[in-house]
Amino acid sequence: MKSTTIAAISTAQGESGIGVIRVSGDEAIEICDRVFKAVSGKKLSEMKGYSAAFGHIYKENEAIDECVATVFRNPKSYTGEDVVELSCHGGIYITRETLRAVLEQGASPAQAGEFTKRAFLNGKLDLTEAEAVIDIISAKSKNAARAALYAKDGALWKRTEAIKNKLVTTAAHLSAWVDYPEEDIEEVTEESLRRVFSESIEELDRLLKTYDAGQTVKEGIDTVIAGKPNTGKSTLMNLLAGHDRSIVTDIPGTTRDIIVETVLVGGIMLRLSDTAGIRDTGDAVEKIGVELAKNRLENCGLVLAVFDDSKPLDENDLSLLEKLDAENTIAIINKTDLESKLDSSPIENKLNDVIRISAKNGDGYTELEKAVARLAGTENFNPSEGILANERQRTAVINAKQSLQNALDALNMGLTFDAAEVDLENAIESVCELTGERVSEVVVGNVFHNFCVGK
Ligand code: GDP
Repeated sequence: MKSTTIAAISTAQGESGIGVIRVSGDEAIEICDRVFKAVSGKKLSEMKGYSAAFGHIYKENEAIDECVATVFRNPKSYTGEDVVELSCHGGIYITRETLRAVLEQGASPAQAGEFTKRAFLNGKLDLTEAEAVIDIISAKSKNAARAALYAKDGALWKRTEAIKNKLVTTAAHLSAWVDYPEEDIEEVTEESLRRVFSESIEELDRLLKTYDAGQTVKEGIDTVIAGKPNTGKSTLMNLLAGHDRSIVTDIPGTTRDIIVETVLVGGIMLRLSDTAGIRDTGDAVEKIGVELAKNRLENCGLVLAVFDDSKPLDENDLSLLEKLDAENTIAIINKTDLESKLDSSPIENKLNDVIRISAKNGDGYTELEKAVARLAGTENFNPSEGILANERQRTAVINAKQSLQNALDALNMGLTFDAAEVDLENAIESVCELTGERVSEVVVGNVFHNFCVGK
């Protein structure tokens, strides 16, 4: 059966040096031959894969732009089909006109993610690798991009494949032994089954643990900078942001609003709020800020609680300290460049992560980076080992683990091996769902729905 030929603008729509219109399908080369004329006179259909020609794009017999056409031949292309990439100038009008010319010649507009979906359906990528394509495109930090690139190269696939192979070998052996008792097949012992189930559960558990760190790297952490007025919250925020974002003054209480800014600290994206100081205040406008601030303290992923080293702790500091939770707080003793008048023992008694910095001159910043990575759980983050990148993958792993747990329970209850065999099959099914080897149309549709058109 012939596949329909699809086309879309694959580059961002705006003004740029070049814009690429990608065409994929059985008739891609034929269709492009009707809109593109090479200066050399050579037809695209006469060209080998991985070759390019310079020429012009024509629409209604009129040249609309210069163009370089690159030909990729099935199966050696992104989608696994014949693909032509038309690189014209990157203006909104020109790229749209070129796309229209291609559509008029018989291509259909590509749906979101359809190129990558075809790559998946043609076996060029497994589902985790396809999902990594979205993550590469949407990565906002080096760590997030690295993690996605490893996934695109099959880091998670390899890890799941190892688990799957072990389970499939065991299932095959078990089924042969149960179904063909008259054959001379090595006995399956309860002990060997137990070992495979437990080891696989442990490996799935290790995989599950990568999820949180992966999400943190990908999505960042909601972070609140808290502290009474004048401790240096705005100055700290400016240090983190690397420019003058908040207004820094000597008058207490100028930072009224919650300002959201995204900064990278130790490779982790922090979505920062610079809050009004936590304290009792008569000022109506400030009060709103203070209430908001308290609320955010309880609901955010990370609190950077700022104390002033040049002054003794007062009741405002202690009141803030009371509201903090060691689980999500880094105490920052600021202004270490001044003479120290602060007794930090109440802070150290309550919180585990206490670091000393001078927000003004940047001393102690490295310690802050380390503390953030420690608290975010990304200290030993190693995406090359394969990490879970989304909820779909996580659910598949949880299901596989549950099935193996059921298999173990069946053995514990003294049931026959047939019962464990069913659970084992279910576990394999879930692992295959993770990689997309066995997955429903609905799930596949869902995955690619999140893509942009042209990818
Ligand atoms: P906020 O009210 O907590 O946001 O505090 P600001 O960031 O506005 O800082 C209050 C005052 O403390 C300003 O004059 C800052 O220049 C000063 N300040 C902030 N951090 C430091 C620091 O590390 N060392 C010194 N010497 N002064 C600082």
